[in-house]
Amino acid sequence: MHFSTITAAALPVLLAGITSATELDPLPQLEAYKVPKSWRQPVTPLRIAANTWQIGTEGITALLLTGREGAILIDGGMAQTADHLLANLGVLGLQPADLKLILHSHAHADHVGSLAAVQRATGARIATNAESALLMARGGANDIHFGDGILYSPIQADRILHHGEEVALGNLHLRVHFIPGHTPGSMAWTWQDIVDGNKTQLAYVDSLSAPGYQLINNSRYPDIVQDYQTSFERVRNLPCELLITPHPAASGWLFENTATQKTPLSCKHYADKAERKLQAQLEAERKGSEG
Ligand SMILES: [Zn+2]
Repeated sequence: MHFSTITAAALPVLLAGITSATELDPLPQLEAYKVPKSWRQPVTPLRIAANTWQIGTEGITALLLTGREGAILIDGGMAQTADHLLANLGVLGLQPADLKLILHSHAHADHVGSLAAVQRATGARIATNAESALLMARGGANDIHFGDGILYSPIQADRILHHGEEVALGNLHLRVHFIPGHTPGSMAWTWQDIVDGNKTQLAYVDSLSAPGYQLINNSRYPDIVQDYQTSFERVRNLPCELLITPHPAASGWLFENTATQKTPLSCKHYADKAERKLQAQLEAERKGSEG
């Protein structure tokens, strides 16, 4: 029966077959997005290289690159980090309008949650790839793995990037590398800076984890495992003398009173480690589906 053909007289008959509201369980309580304290613990600007600063929190990276024509922010952390990022710009002697460009690693709430607010406050342009732009425009909704579980203020991209493209602002030059897996739009960024007086290739490489993801027969992302494999290989071959990651501990960094890489990790080892973990997860999922 087509809905429009239901008459008022027929309704009581239809409703009689439906369980009364009091017999149904209440709808679930909404749950906030709870995260570890370190993710919410702000840091003062910590110098990583001559023009590269960590201005986010102990557990989430927000990189500020300072150049002659303004600054670039890569990742902003969670929504509640926005004011802190703006304050840290001030600590470094920058005005909000000095932030010209916003880049990021992947479009989950813990890395881009603050970007809409930072963009409003600074007028910076946002550059990202098509996959991430779509997810950011919907504020993280309808995520392949999390559904509507982790939302944030929607973000409008100003520029769509392609794999291997260079992004420049004055004397700052970065290259983007697409490394799909953790999200279809995951990215790595590489650029050159000075560390201890030496020209150094920095690589900011996205998470390579698959937290709780369905890897086998995922109808929303059938090629997810192949994408990870391609990305592992791509990460191994990045120009990478100093690796930094969205969650600092993943690359051995400790952000407290200083930025210190306690256990330096190469891009190759970062990819190897992630690959072993994914294989184990795949094995467990296979066993689970057999049993
Ligand atoms: Zn994520």
